[in-house]
Amino acid sequence: MITTRHSTTNPLQQSLIQEHITLKDKNWFQTGGVSHYFAEPTTIQEFSQALLFSQENKIPLFILGQGANILVSDHGFDGLTIRPRLNAISHKEQGDTALVHAQAGVTIHDLIEYCLNHHIIGLEEFSGIPGTVGGSVYINLHYFQFFLAQFLHKATVMHRADGTIHQVSKEWFNFGYDTSTLQQQEFYLVDATFILKKTSALEAMYARGRRAEIIRHRLARYPSTHTCGSFFRNFHPDEVPYFIEGSSKKLIFVAYYLDKIGVKGSLRVGNAAVSHQHANMLINIGDATSHDIITLARTMQELVYEKFGILPQPECQLIGFHEYPLLTI
Ligand SMILES: Cc1cc2nc3c(=O)[nH]c(=O)nc-3n(C[C@H](O)[C@H](O)[C@H](O)COP(=O)(O)OP(=O)(O)OC[C@H]3O[C@@H](n4cnc5c(N)ncnc54)[C@H](O)[C@@H]3O)c2cc1C
Repeated sequence: MITTRHSTTNPLQQSLIQEHITLKDKNWFQTGGVSHYFAEPTTIQEFSQALLFSQENKIPLFILGQGANILVSDHGFDGLTIRPRLNAISHKEQGDTALVHAQAGVTIHDLIEYCLNHHIIGLEEFSGIPGTVGGSVYINLHYFQFFLAQFLHKATVMHRADGTIHQVSKEWFNFGYDTSTLQQQEFYLVDATFILKKTSALEAMYARGRRAEIIRHRLARYPSTHTCGSFFRNFHPDEVPYFIEGSSKKLIFVAYYLDKIGVKGSLRVGNAAVSHQHANMLINIGDATSHDIITLARTMQELVYEKFGILPQPECQLIGFHEYPLLTI
């Protein structure tokens, strides 16, 4: 059983830090246990105070967005979870360019809506994807050829060690496929400024149409709830020995290998199943546990390894597991 181990005399921290808060209703899989400590700062000062609480007491820290790309252990998280409720959006226009500033807790959905309402286009390519600005910069959100990094101009980050604020350029993030500097967990995103196109009401209306079309396409092709989207990331070219037929390009798409092992719509562990729509999407089809989901993922790794000699690695972030629960290369 979890018991209180740390206290604070700082009144702001006292009002912010809650205890024994479930994470099950705060992530897309709808599984997992309790966070020992939990805070929802609504200002940057509160964010840094919450962070300092974890530093002063030397307790593990996890920053939660919308929970769309995480799997939380059934044992919960024995540390402090901070869910920044920093939700401001604003913008400045310079000719046909708009600089849109969004705080870390703004959802991608609200950001796109704000942009279209102000006749600003570009981000609608990410329509229908759940998540906050914080979680999306962390993973460099992507959809087909579009990556969030393409639109990022600059950002504000908070240093884990002392809660200080730093302005950083896009280059600071060292973005790649599924990667950014934030993954070193030394800095956390406070806000991001995106450089987008200011356009006419008519063009913004076309962009709304495109958004509706993308969402329709996504709903027809992928599950949208009780999943984390793609569970495994695509391979890096040096991880696979296989080539696309008739090409010198490596076959990096993990869904190809998952399709070939025949698990789509059929493999199941407890109440966790591989979606019938997409072989790389695992779903909680009832009251699954995180253990069901991770066991299913591990079984898929084993099957791909048996057939192809390569090991898929997760895109989904695993939170609170005492031992790494998947197979590593
Ligand atoms: C139905 C569905 C479809 C999806 N489709 C796509 C898709 O097409 N493309 C795609 O790229 N992804 C997709 N995803 C995955 C997910 O939407 C993205 O990864 C999203 O960016 C997660 O954002 P989040 O706020 O929910 O982050 P969370 O899941 O809450 O957290 C993810 C990671 O981000 C970190 N993080 C969160 N906020 C901050 C912050 N302020 N500073 C530093 N780190 C932070 C967390 O600590 C964690 O490590 C999909 C997910 C679902 C459920």
